[in-house]
Amino acid sequence: IEQTAMQNDKLAMLGKIAAAIAHEIRNPLTSIRGFIQLLRPYLLQVGKEEYARIILTEIDRANDIIYEFLNSSKPSAPMKQYVSINSLIKEVVLLTESESLLRNCEIKAEWHANDVFVSIDVKQVKQVVLNIIKNALDAIEDVQLERRGRIDVIGRSDGQYAEIVIRDNGKGMDKATMSRLFDPFFTTKQLGTGLGLSVSYRIVRNHGGAIRVDSQAGSGTEFIIYLPLAE
Ligand code: ADP
Repeated sequence: IEQTAMQNDKLAMLGKIAAAIAHEIRNPLTSIRGFIQLLRPYLLQVGKEEYARIILTEIDRANDIIYEFLNSSKPSAPMKQYVSINSLIKEVVLLTESESLLRNCEIKAEWHANDVFVSIDVKQVKQVVLNIIKNALDAIEDVQLERRGRIDVIGRSDGQYAEIVIRDNGKGMDKATMSRLFDPFFTTKQLGTGLGLSVSYRIVRNHGGAIRVDSQAGSGTEFIIYLPLAE
C-alpha cells in the first residue's frame, strides 16, 4: 500500500495541530513525572516500586507520541538499537496483559526457538505493536457476547525479514474499511483518532519494513509487521 500525496498533506496538517497542543500537554506530564519520582521511596517501602517504573515508562511513551506527532510532517530518523524479536514481544505482551484481562481477553505470546535480531528504534516499534494490539482489543470488545477474546502475538522470520504477527478473533473488517485503514484520521470508532495505523505505517516504512493486513468480517484480523533482519 503506497502512501499517497493526500496522506502526506494530512500528516503535515497533523504536525501543525500537534505543535499547537503538545506544549499544553507536556507541562502537566512533566509535573506528574516529578511527583511520581517523589512517591517512589514510599512505593518501594510497600514493595510496589514496579508501579512507579510502569508509570514513568508510560509517561515517557506519551511524551514520545507527542514528539512523534510533532515530527509527522518531517518524520525523524529512527534511533537504532540492536534487539531480539522475542524480547520485544515478551515486553509488549507483558505491558498489555493487565488491560487484556480487564477486557476479558486472553493475550498470548509465541515465538520460534531460533530468535532473530533487528536494528530498530525500540520505542517507536513498541508503539506500533501496542497500537495494533489496542485495535485488536477494541475489535474484540464488539463480539464479546459471542466468543471469548483472544490475541496471539507471534515472532517468526522468513530469513530476510523478522515478522511480528498480531492475530485477533474480533469483529474483522469489510473491504471498504480495509482500503482506508492507513489513512490519517480514518476511524470507525466513536472516540477514535484514526491516527494509530497511519503513524504505525510511517514508523515501519522508516525502518525499511512493511505492514500487511488480512481480515475477515465477522471472524478476525491478522496484522504482520515486517522488519529487515540486522546484519
Ligand atoms: P483508531 O483506532 O483511532 O480508529 P487506527 O488508525 O488505529 O485509528 O485504526 C483505524 C480503523 O481501522 C479503526 O477505526 C478500525 O475500524 C480499523 N481497525 C484497525 N484494526 C482493526 C482490527 N484489529 N479489527 C477490526 N478493525 C480494525
